[in-house]
Amino acid sequence: MSIEILPARLANQIAAGEVVERPASVVKELVENSIDAGATRIQIDIERGGHKLIRIRDNGAGIVKDELTLALSRHATSKLKTLDDLECISSLGFRGEALASISSVSRLTLSSKPADQETAWQAFAEGRDMTVQIQPTAHPDGTTIEVKDLFFNTPARRKFLRTEKTEFSHIDELIKRIALSRFDLALTLTHNQKVIRQFRARPDPYSVERVAQVAGKVFAQQASFVESGHDGLKLYGWVLPVGCSNQTQYTYVNGRMMRDKLILHAIRQAFEETAGAVDTPGFVIYLELDPTQVDVNVHPAKHEVRFHQARLIHDFIVQAVKQVVLSERPELPLSDSG
Ligand code: ADP
Ligand code: MG
Repeated sequence: MSIEILPARLANQIAAGEVVERPASVVKELVENSIDAGATRIQIDIERGGHKLIRIRDNGAGIVKDELTLALSRHATSKLKTLDDLECISSLGFRGEALASISSVSRLTLSSKPADQETAWQAFAEGRDMTVQIQPTAHPDGTTIEVKDLFFNTPARRKFLRTEKTEFSHIDELIKRIALSRFDLALTLTHNQKVIRQFRARPDPYSVERVAQVAGKVFAQQASFVESGHDGLKLYGWVLPVGCSNQTQYTYVNGRMMRDKLILHAIRQAFEETAGAVDTPGFVIYLELDPTQVDVNVHPAKHEVRFHQARLIHDFIVQAVKQVVLSERPELPLSDSG
């Protein structure tokens, strides 16, 4: 067989395998783009669990006409210029892969208008080479991305889509996680034209109302607030007392939602050392540290991070969470390691 360069669409479809697993992963990438664009209001409309339509509208910075083609191209990003930037990345995205990947496995249109532009423009990519077509459109300041017929041209992926209900529940869960990542965002989620969730922007970062909206009133009433920090490390959030059965377990690192093994392990250890081997009850925990101390470029979907001083961070989390578990159960003996 001769060696040939893959056509753009095929190359993008292969890359899509890493970031676009299901409708919820599309929603994650698009909402994160809206957040990176400085949006304060994001509307997420879903039809048929995202099989048919995923539409994200934001009031962010928008994209100028001349950059629409680039936005849909692979390895094109406005968020990163040098390797050094990667060392202290503060945006949620930086790989420049999402729009190219998603548009290679769906019918994607991108409409946008920066506030200082007269006209809004719409773009979509077509064919094997993904040539971008551009036309004028009507659109308020900000961006709308519509993703129709996800995986229509990749039957192998489509086969793995679950029922509408299951796919929507993944999206709903994701939006709840995002709602707790940024209290100042106004978010609306609709499914088949019905409003499912609505979060009003909250000026204070510790809004227990929003926690109640996501994790339930009982969680918000029973959880203790924890706050701890030293040497540039900060941890805060809510932790349920032992014996409560709410399974909300959300963690964030520098505003990015995570399912990081080290963090989860440290939290579990804190409970084990104070309350014995118990099922870890619910928590919503935020960790903040110098961005140069954490590598987010470990996983394409950025679920995990790598801490430069893993041991230190682990111990810090254990100590901080132990404090709050002990305060919730004053009758428990203090362990000598604490
Ligand atoms: P990345 O987020 O890694 O940069 P993407 O493929 O997700 O890559 O997006 C490519 C580029 O398109 C972004 O860097 C950004 O400049 C632009 N972009 C995407 N979505 C939006 C949006 N909602 N508002 C403004 N610009 C956007
Ligand atoms: Mg992105």
